[in-house]
Amino acid sequence: MARLVMKFGGTSVADIDRIRNVARHVKREVDAGHEVAVVVSAMSGATDQLVAWCRAATKDRPLFDAREYDVVVASGEQVTAGLLAITLQDMDVNARSWLGWQLPVATSNAHAAARILDIDGEELIRRFKERKEVAVIAGFQGIHPETGRITTLGRGGSDTSAVAVAAAIRADRCDIYTDVDGVYTSDPRVVPRARRLDKIAFEEMLELASLGAKVMQVRSVELGMVHDVRIFVRSSFDRPEDIDPHGNPPGTLICSEEEIVEQQVVTGIAFSRDEAQISVREVQDKPGVAAAIFIPLADANINVDMIVQNVSADGKTTDLTFTVPAADYQRSLEVIAKAKGAIGYSRLDGATDVAKISVIGIGMRSHAGVAAQAFRALAERAVNIRAITTSEIKFSLLIDAAFTELAVRTLHSLYDLDKATP
Ligand code: ADP
Ligand code: ASP
Ligand code: MG
Repeated sequence: MARLVMKFGGTSVADIDRIRNVARHVKREVDAGHEVAVVVSAMSGATDQLVAWCRAATKDRPLFDAREYDVVVASGEQVTAGLLAITLQDMDVNARSWLGWQLPVATSNAHAAARILDIDGEELIRRFKERKEVAVIAGFQGIHPETGRITTLGRGGSDTSAVAVAAAIRADRCDIYTDVDGVYTSDPRVVPRARRLDKIAFEEMLELASLGAKVMQVRSVELGMVHDVRIFVRSSFDRPEDIDPHGNPPGTLICSEEEIVEQQVVTGIAFSRDEAQISVREVQDKPGVAAAIFIPLADANINVDMIVQNVSADGKTTDLTFTVPAADYQRSLEVIAKAKGAIGYSRLDGATDVAKISVIGIGMRSHAGVAAQAFRALAERAVNIRAITTSEIKFSLLIDAAFTELAVRTLHSLYDLDKATP
């Protein structure tokens, strides 16, 4: 007997037929004697619709009250939690739904981007033991204990709910059921030759997720790493009756580095079109200028990512380029323009048609020249690189968005990710 968390994403609960299929997966585990907590997302497209309604309701003002936004967007998961509990009951599986405030999932009060502080799993465990009851938990939502208000965890946050529940109930495994059968070497929608990884280290998954692979929310991987939760990414579209209860289903285990025997230099390639580039031209080359640019941006809660500054040729002025999330592009330009007096520059240039391509692999720690190979391969395809950043287990390149697919596929082949590992 094992204790499991099963998380089902939006496409997996998109309609009543799919919810029924999910319920059959849950029943399969219950029949095998396992204790099960299920975490569900909103039906595919539901959250987008709720967000769009919030925007439409405030068309004259750019910002809405994040507390009310959370009230609206949390409703999507309420519907699926109830529907799945009803469906399970209809299959004679004892099930009860739980909303974030009922469990409770205590979070910070950073509405729309709240962090989970604590989940009390004892009541769920008691019900596993005493009633053989399946818990069906609405993902993505929580409550701020002091204000008592509903919070949400940021887009894709049900993954984080699932891993946090797994830690709280001391689950043996957290299964993330989604519309792909695992974590691939790159997004299979863009790279048809991408391959499923049997295992990936937490650190690598963290980089893949934060650099654009939306298969897992970044925060869920962090939590898994901290609490040592075994996370298994697998497909919800398999037919439950085809799954051998004693076999190894296809999927990807996210685990500690030590568990991975066959370590590759490059594990995966992520990309993000959600970037914008800003260049501040002819800034004074003197102490304090970087602070004059980046402190106002930080104060405005804008996340700066890549930063490139040249050594000035004449000792007087230089150019400084950086990237921000595309959604913050206009606001960033305004912040910099407002600080023009303190910074001192001649012109502001920007571009939103850029993409960031990132190559990730723990093996880079011990291999030199990995990035250099990429520069040559991209040059051969006439892809210009606008900015570069590197760290211990990854490097990122900023390029024109039009070349995203070409660049990702080129690098995927370059590092032999197209080929099956021996
Ligand atoms: P869910 O609704 O189940 O949470 P998501 O849409 O959030 O699912 O995440 C699954 C999607 O992530 C896949 O359909 C795939 O297109 C995308 N994806 C991006 N990068 C990868 C990758 N490296 N491996 C697998 N899927 C990826
Ligand atoms: N429904 C939320 C979203 O679409 C959370 C999730 O699916 O994980 O972002
Ligand atoms: Mg998701």
